Amino acid sequence: MGIQATVDAARREKRVLLTEVESKQVLEEAGINVIRARLARSMKEAASIAREVGFPVVLKVASPDIVHKSDIGGVKVGLGNASQVSKAYREIMAAVKEKEPKATVHGVSVQAMAKPGVETIIGMTKDAQFGPVIMFGLGGILVEILKDVSFRIVPLLRKDAREMIRDIKGYPVLEGYRGQPPSDVGALEDMILKVSDFVERNPVIKELDLNPVFAYKDGAVAVDARIVLEADAAG
Ligand code: ADP
Ligand code: MG
Repeated sequence: MGIQATVDAARREKRVLLTEVESKQVLEEAGINVIRARLARSMKEAASIAREVGFPVVLKVASPDIVHKSDIGGVKVGLGNASQVSKAYREIMAAVKEKEPKATVHGVSVQAMAKPGVETIIGMTKDAQFGPVIMFGLGGILVEILKDVSFRIVPLLRKDAREMIRDIKGYPVLEGYRGQPPSDVGALEDMILKVSDFVERNPVIKELDLNPVFAYKDGAVAVDARIVLEADAAG
């Protein structure tokens, strides 16, 4: 299913938020490295997908009405066997029922547990004057409290991607410190450029958030993804 089919499906349902499953699917098609998420519509299906994926896995609520999944108890990480998956499934459904009773729920997403890396964020928003703008920052509290982020206007050149990563105050964290290996900054540059390309080719995308992207000694991968579409069909 290409991005157009995903967009059409969302439009038929009169929604602008693509779920994590949908977002990662279209991003993967664009060559962006993601932890693939598969939709499970029942507890039994969640357990069987988990076995196929291989433990440990992560379960997350799959809903086009829920933007911040962990805020409502909709993310369970490090599930080591089928019975933990079943328990997590029940807990997620109970949490949604309590906190977001009106939400449309597709089921849960099941995905491999990513190995720990340096948490970064790659995002896109549209500026009234400049159009699509790419944001880069370090994840977690650094971005939430310190707003340590940098921006560049689409389309980005390799030079822009290089500079925007080095512009953030937290850049030394990516260079490695206290025996931590340096992160693969080249892989982050590649991902930024692919995102720039992807949003340029798809003006229907209003906002995009890869949060977090784990950076490793070798490579980088988007662990969570969210795409918001333009509301009007003209986009
Ligand atoms: P949301 O941002 O909607 O609350 P996330 O998908 O970002 O939900 O999950 C919350 C946190 O759980 C992430 O920031 C990350 O630390 C952890 N996490 C999510 N998915 C994975 C995964 N596949 N592997 C490892 N950790 C994960
Ligand atoms: Mg997230």
